[in-house]
Amino acid sequence: MTIIDLRSDTVTLPTQAMRDVMASAPVGDDVYGEDPSVNLLEDDMAKTLGKEAGLFIASGTMGNLVALLAHAGRGDEVILGDLSHTFLYEGGGVSALGSIHPHQLPNEVDGTLDPRRIQLALRNPDDPHAPRTRMIVLENTHNRCGGIALTAQYCNQVAQIAGENGLIMHLDGARLFNAAIALGCAITDLTHPFDSVTVCLSKGLGAPVGSVLCGSRAFIHEAHRMRKLVGGGMRQAGILAAAGLYALDHHVERLAEDHKNAATLARGISQIDGLHCPQAEVPATGAWTNLVYFSVDGAAIGRPQLDAIELSKRLKAQGVLAHALGSDGKKIRMVTHLNIDSSDIEATLATLRSCLSGT
Ligand SMILES: *Cc1c(COP(=O)(O)O)cnc(C)c1O
Repeated sequence: MTIIDLRSDTVTLPTQAMRDVMASAPVGDDVYGEDPSVNLLEDDMAKTLGKEAGLFIASGTMGNLVALLAHAGRGDEVILGDLSHTFLYEGGGVSALGSIHPHQLPNEVDGTLDPRRIQLALRNPDDPHAPRTRMIVLENTHNRCGGIALTAQYCNQVAQIAGENGLIMHLDGARLFNAAIALGCAITDLTHPFDSVTVCLSKGLGAPVGSVLCGSRAFIHEAHRMRKLVGGGMRQAGILAAAGLYALDHHVERLAEDHKNAATLARGISQIDGLHCPQAEVPATGAWTNLVYFSVDGAAIGRPQLDAIELSKRLKAQGVLAHALGSDGKKIRMVTHLNIDSSDIEATLATLRSCLSGT
């Protein structure tokens, strides 16, 4: 049985061409700053994102942590979304390791934080009862909000509030290339409002490991210290950086294909009784990318026992892997990526139809 793995875009395997450049990459000791492949990746990514400098980091989680450690200190407050990856899925590292106080605001359906709520969340810096508001973190694309891309216009609006109040802006851009491709804008339009940006190489870009954190030279200098502090200094890391360089050259434009496949999947799902996929509709703001979330309503088709967990089990038995999530047992996530083509999407829809029509 062939497996169609739609759990995440992190499941991609390096292509032979990517493995070849990794195997022959020039390397050195990166803790001494002597790995040419790491240095090249950091420079390339910084240029691509319109920032002064970059830092190769083992993971997106570590990238966000290092960024926050470099920007904020003990008791400082960070404003972020209640559905943000940093708040939900990074082990609480911001507070556990950074002594930084998270102030979560509700994410709107389009992944944004309401600027009026941000304004109201700002602390009075002269009030000794209050923590100091230090920074704002946004996420683009927004994972839990359906992989929706936030527009540059929105990010600029938040940056204006940050500027007026002396706050730092950090972007969790794990899938930022997806956002730029889906919105059809320059990636620098999306990074310009931010002081620092993390991007993942190991998601849609298809590299096995790594993220790059970018920002000003002074910020990266501090982030470098923080990366060492959390044990993230790697040695001949150029073997990994080479995969990232290859991905930047070969796997960015093709993200459009993942988005097309995801849109086909969303439309197909919305036509199946018992499934509900809001992503079949064009969003009011932003754009959908490569993540498809849908809910399962077995009761609507007279099969109340069929919830997301049950459906994902049945899919798995037929070779389609998806992610059931949420405490309500209703939602499933499917993600398109490098190793999924349009025939896999057709096969997945056929499997879904058969799971929903059987008994
Ligand atoms: C995956 C992800 C991360 C973390 O990346 P890892 O490399 O898995 O640690 C951060 N933010 C978002 C939005 C993500 O989807």
